[in-house]
Order: sequence, then structure tokens, then C-alpha cells
Amino acid sequence: MSRRTGAAVKTGLGERAGRMPFVVMKFGGTSVANVERIRNVARHVKREVEAGNKVAVVVSAMAGATNQLVAWVREASPLHDAREYDAVVATGEQVTAGLLAIVLQSMGITARSWQGWQVPIVTDNAHGVARIRDIPGAALRTRLEQGEVAVITGFQGIEPARNRVSTLGRGGSDTSAVALAVAVKADLCDIYTDVDGVYTTDPRIVPQAKRLPKISYEEMLEMASQGSKVLQTRSVELAMVHNMRVRVLSSFTPPEDVTPVDPATWDRIGTIICDEDEIVEQRVVSGIAYAKDEAKITLLNIADKPGIAAAVFGPLADANINVDMIVQNLSADGKSTDITFTVQGSELPRALEVLKKVAAKLGAFDIKSSNDVAKVSVIGIGMRSHAGVAAQMFKALGEKGINILAISTSEIKISVLIDAAYAELAVRTLHGLYELGKD
Ligand code: ADP
Ligand code: ASP
Ligand code: MG
Repeated sequence: MSRRTGAAVKTGLGERAGRMPFVVMKFGGTSVANVERIRNVARHVKREVEAGNKVAVVVSAMAGATNQLVAWVREASPLHDAREYDAVVATGEQVTAGLLAIVLQSMGITARSWQGWQVPIVTDNAHGVARIRDIPGAALRTRLEQGEVAVITGFQGIEPARNRVSTLGRGGSDTSAVALAVAVKADLCDIYTDVDGVYTTDPRIVPQAKRLPKISYEEMLEMASQGSKVLQTRSVELAMVHNMRVRVLSSFTPPEDVTPVDPATWDRIGTIICDEDEIVEQRVVSGIAYAKDEAKITLLNIADKPGIAAAVFGPLADANINVDMIVQNLSADGKSTDITFTVQGSELPRALEVLKKVAAKLGAFDIKSSNDVAKVSVIGIGMRSHAGVAAQMFKALGEKGINILAISTSEIKISVLIDAAYAELAVRTLHGLYELGKD
């Protein structure tokens, strides 16, 4: 049963009779890496337009462009103003949106580029990691209804109080696409990338990985949040809340080999992210995710008394630092103990700053930290009803000599923290263990 009981389960596209599907198409960085690839993207768009479908396109910056912009900001000053960071890094998408509109026009298609603020895509004020609050978009909808293709910059919006450009966090164009699909009531949100779907694990690490024809919102949410960067976590959350169908497919499949979105055939290629009730064939484990951007912090000889955990984790939460796994040792003498936990690797310097202040207040404790750790996760909704998945996992890792530093679980996921050097071996081992490469 779906956790969202009562939510209407869609049965197909084009439910409103006589209406051609309304599609949002998103193209990631590798798909728009140069003008030739932008022409290829335009051919995908043209196919949909010629079939009579209404199309809004969301584009990322050219591959590597955002990294370059971020590097320039950091070079300018390691401690920089978040609003100016956004002013710089949002520019990558402006280039590709304009170029795609130009190419589409040159093919005889009515198209216009839109920057986030022009739509407008309204966000909160958390610059660099902003969340979309609203997409009023009446003008956009009118133009789409008239058959004009809208090419919209992904990854960005506008923070209305200060009237500043904001960005949604790395990989945020996926979220722009899903949010727009929800706002314009699209039938489908197609995410075109450099792989032809969501695989049982990253196909770059395990060549035997298999494409999943369908994956549930819940599993995809865990995959994304545990490190599978094929979709930004927030985009899956949004799709799940609004029951928006998302399909992941490759822009490198020749445009003429892809059938225009059609109620009868749309689910024959790529991976559909959908309600679990729509998935007939269920496995216990659906996929393996890994995250290398992890850091481990250990507090040694910290007082073992009520209120200590709150005193440590409260200030970290106040600083907006997400703590993931937490392990507290049994105290041998009843007076002091050790606590180990993980944060995102990029948050480590800030976390250490906060903890130094905590240590000064609580009485000294030692702090050890390391960036050389990775998290590997096994995900599957079948775990709700099957015991023994964790035991098998720990045994297989043990047999490969991989030491587990911390463990965390949810109803449909088991994650272990291990030495970063073993991350790929662990992913391959677990992929084999659960026979995910088999048909
Ligand atoms: P884009 O630039 O199109 O947004 P990304 O690089 O963000 O593309 O995401 C696509 C990449 O995600 C793939 O190239 C692949 O290496 C990686 N990836 C990680 N886990 C998976 C998975 N389970 N299935 C497919 N791709 C995955
Ligand atoms: N260009 C942005 C990034 O590289 C957003 C995206 O591609 O989704 O993070
Ligand atoms: Mg991406």
C-alpha cells in the first residue's frame, strides 16, 4: 500500500480526453555540453512539438561550467557572500537557455528563453541551497498554451524580499523541472541525462548494473539522498508529494529512436519513477547507493550524563549542519564516553568550528575527524517484509575484510560507513550479493 493513502493513482497520460500530453523536458550538463549537443537536444524537443505535445524545457549549464564558476568564487574569497555566489553561479544556465532558444528558432520552432526570475520561480532566502516556494507563472502558461516552447534556466529562482537571484543547490535543475511540471500541471517530467535510466547502482562503477524500468518514489528518494546523483533528492520529494510522474532517459539515444510522448507507449523506455502500487515485480533490494562526500567526527572522553547529546547536536542543528549517522559507545567507567557521527564532507570545517565552541562550554573533550570515509547503502521496499538483509550485508562485507565504522537504517534502507578506499569494492560486493545484475 502506498504511504500516501487516499492519493489518486494515475493510470496513464492524456487522461483529460482529447488533450495532447503536456511535457516538461530537462537536459543535464553533459547533454548541453557544446553547441552540437544543444542541436541534438533541439531535435528531441522538435520531435515532441511536431507530435503536437506542449513542451517546456529546463536546461542545466554546460558540463563543467558550474564547477568553474564555483571555483572562481572560491578563488575570489574562500569566505564569500552567499547572494553574490548565486549571482555568479546562476549564469551558466543563462547561456544554455539562450543558445537552445536560438537553435530551436533556427529550426523553425517558436521558442523563447526564460530566466528563473522571469517566470518567476519564487524561492526562500537560503542562498546557495534555496527552496522553491511558488511558481505563479501565468504568463508562462499562456505562452505554452499558445504552442510556444519555453526554455527555462534550471537551478535558480528569485528571492522576492531582496529581489535577488537564488540557486537551489548542486544538481538543482532536476528540482526546477519537477517544480515546473507541477506548476503547469504537466502530464510527465522527462529528465534527459547521460545514462538511459536509473540503474541498480551507478553503471560507471558496476558495468553489470541493470536499468530499472520502474522505481518507486520512496526507493528513488533513498537512492538520491544516499548519494545516487542521477536525481537531486528534493526533486524526488516534490514528485512524490505531488504524484508527478518522472521519467529518466538518455539524450544520447538518437532523437528519431525515441517515440514522442504518447499515452500508449510512454513507459517503454527509460525509468519511470512512480507510486509503488504501479510496480508489479518487486525485489527485496532494488539498488545500491554510495556517497563519498562524507566526514566522520568522534568526540572522545565526553561526559556521560543526561543532556549531553542535546548540548552537542543542538548547536550543530542551529548552524544548519545535517548530522547523519550517530554512534555512542557504552561508557566503561560511567563517567565519560565517546560519540561518533557523520556530516557532509563539505560541512566538516564548519562543524569543527561549532564543536570547538561546544567543548569550551561543556568542559574539554577531544575531537577527532576524518574525510576518508564513504557511506554505502542498500535500498529496497521489499525490506519492509523481509528479515535478514542486514545480516547478509554485514557478512559479505566482513568476508572482504571491509570494516564497518557506523550503521544506520530506515524501513527500506541500511547504510554503513566504511573506509573510502573500500567504497567501490563494497558497492560491487553488495551488487553481486543481492544478484542485482541478473535479469
Ligand atoms: P546531469 O548532468 O544530466 O544532471 P548527473 O551527472 O547529475 O547528470 O547524473 C547522471 C549520473 O548519475 C550518471 O552519469 C551516473 O554516473 C550517475 N549515477 C549514480 N547512480 C546512478 C544510478 N543508480 N543510475 C543511473 N545513474 C547513476
Ligand atoms: N548546473 C548546476 C550544477 O551543476 C545545476 C544542475 O546541473 O542541475 O549543479
Ligand atoms: Mg544532475
